[in-house]
Amino acid sequence: TGKTFFVDLSRCTGCRGCQIACKQWKNKPVEPTENTGSHQNPPDLSWQTLKVVRFSEKTIDGKFHWLFLPDQCRHCLDAPCKMVGDAEVPDAIMQDPQTGAVVFTEKCKGLNAQGIREACPYDIPRVDKATKLMYKCDLCNDRIHAGMVPSCVQTCPTGTMNFGDRDEMLALARDRLAKLKVKFPKAELVDADSVRVIFLCTQPPSAYYKHLQFGDAGPRPLSRKAFLAKVMRPLR
Ligand code: SF4
Ligand code: SF4
Ligand code: SF4
Repeated sequence: TGKTFFVDLSRCTGCRGCQIACKQWKNKPVEPTENTGSHQNPPDLSWQTLKVVRFSEKTIDGKFHWLFLPDQCRHCLDAPCKMVGDAEVPDAIMQDPQTGAVVFTEKCKGLNAQGIREACPYDIPRVDKATKLMYKCDLCNDRIHAGMVPSCVQTCPTGTMNFGDRDEMLALARDRLAKLKVKFPKAELVDADSVRVIFLCTQPPSAYYKHLQFGDAGPRPLSRKAFLAKVMRPLR
């Protein structure tokens, strides 16, 4: 139930249309930036950049790959950020029962932002130091309730970004995976059973970005259950 993104990375050209569409819909300004030796720009997410297309150059099995990842909040089914937030201010982080969107509300001002950041397995939330408010993608929940698709999905010209009812998206994801496996035996769906933004990779997830897959950046054997138990320890 609820909504889900299916993001087929085999189709992404790194055009950044989705990144710009997100800024436009969210009315966020461009930020001053600098050349970091990568085509990725800006270099990271921020409270004003809720979606960033990450660029990675990797040689895998002797073959060069230029990999693109349109990175955003995954809208986890059991969201660790919400579990930690609820222990401090209940429903400051809201989960829409209809769409499944995980949304940071104004009440987040009272939360320990560092704790929320550490709880997120995908390193998503960012804080505006001036207002102490936390920001991230909200699934364009307002657009969905108005019968539209998220702004980034609407803009994507290549069929990378897809959006719809969860069952429909899971079926599409499994169908595309089966087709891609013929050419890319390593292809996989990332954390499909626990998130609402499901990426299809043709290369190992860590080649795209260290936080693409749950647990990749931390100690690998930590299971989802053990991780949740860890983040749910009583807060200071
Ligand atoms: Fe941005 Fe909306 Fe896409 Fe989230 S769903 S990345 S807020 S455009
Ligand atoms: Fe929360 Fe991070 Fe999951 Fe988004 S990706 S719902 S910020 S834990
Ligand atoms: Fe990739 Fe589509 Fe975003 Fe362009 S708009 S960077 S093709 S996901």
